[in-house]
Amino acid sequence: MLSIEDLHVAYGGTRAVDGVTLQVEAGQTVLLIGANGAGKSSLINSVIGLVRHSRGRIRFDGRDISAMPSDARARAGIGYSPEGRRVFAAMSVKDNVLAGAARLSAREQAARWDRMVASFRFLGERQSQPAGELSGGQQQLVAIARAMGGAPRLLLLDEPFLGLAPVWIQQISAAVRQMQDEGIAVLMTEQMARPALKIAHYGHVMRSGQIRRSGLTSEIRGAALAEEYL
Ligand code: ATP
Repeated sequence: MLSIEDLHVAYGGTRAVDGVTLQVEAGQTVLLIGANGAGKSSLINSVIGLVRHSRGRIRFDGRDISAMPSDARARAGIGYSPEGRRVFAAMSVKDNVLAGAARLSAREQAARWDRMVASFRFLGERQSQPAGELSGGQQQLVAIARAMGGAPRLLLLDEPFLGLAPVWIQQISAAVRQMQDEGIAVLMTEQMARPALKIAHYGHVMRSGQIRRSGLTSEIRGAALAEEYL
């Protein structure tokens, strides 16, 4: 579904992504593990069109999307949950979640909301509360639910576990497993290898913009855990 080929991203003289090739198939969760500055966010941001790559190719469903604007990529089915729990703080929980579903009909939005509440009960309990008043873990889930709300076929999760208590890591993990069951392709980045290795099928260890190890999560476990301490 997503195919990245020899991707290069640079900021002035800094090579943030230096020749990365990877694929993500429907229903598959692929993990990019790496320390601060490894280039994970730059890679994700180039897939959603926030940064331009200088070389290489990004294909979605076989089509080169390099020249496609961000909003068109979102409409094509690429969802994104940014690093650092970015919610619209003054907006209600429900409006935050439905902001991701603005292009769907009212009926589809209602169905989407019901499904989200079935997965994450607190969304229903807190639906009218400003999202900025929620705990960190709850805000992260709202951000992920917003990305899921748009019914993406590919979901990009940038460090979804960052700074979260185990209870929220479990809930987010359950959400990712649900997406796997629905055939959604997930590309997630993490510095925290342990919980991410439990849910991903395949992983890449990234350092200095390059992929150093790739394999099934069982195969890269040792290398991924070593990276966690860098
Ligand atoms: P983090 O976990 O800290 O977000 P990361 O693995 O996502 O790290 P990137 O944020 O992609 O890594 O950063 C890769 C490299 O590019 C780093 O050297 C970083 O300093 C640099 N970089 C990232 N964004 C910019 C920018 N907007 N301008 C200049 N340099 C940048």
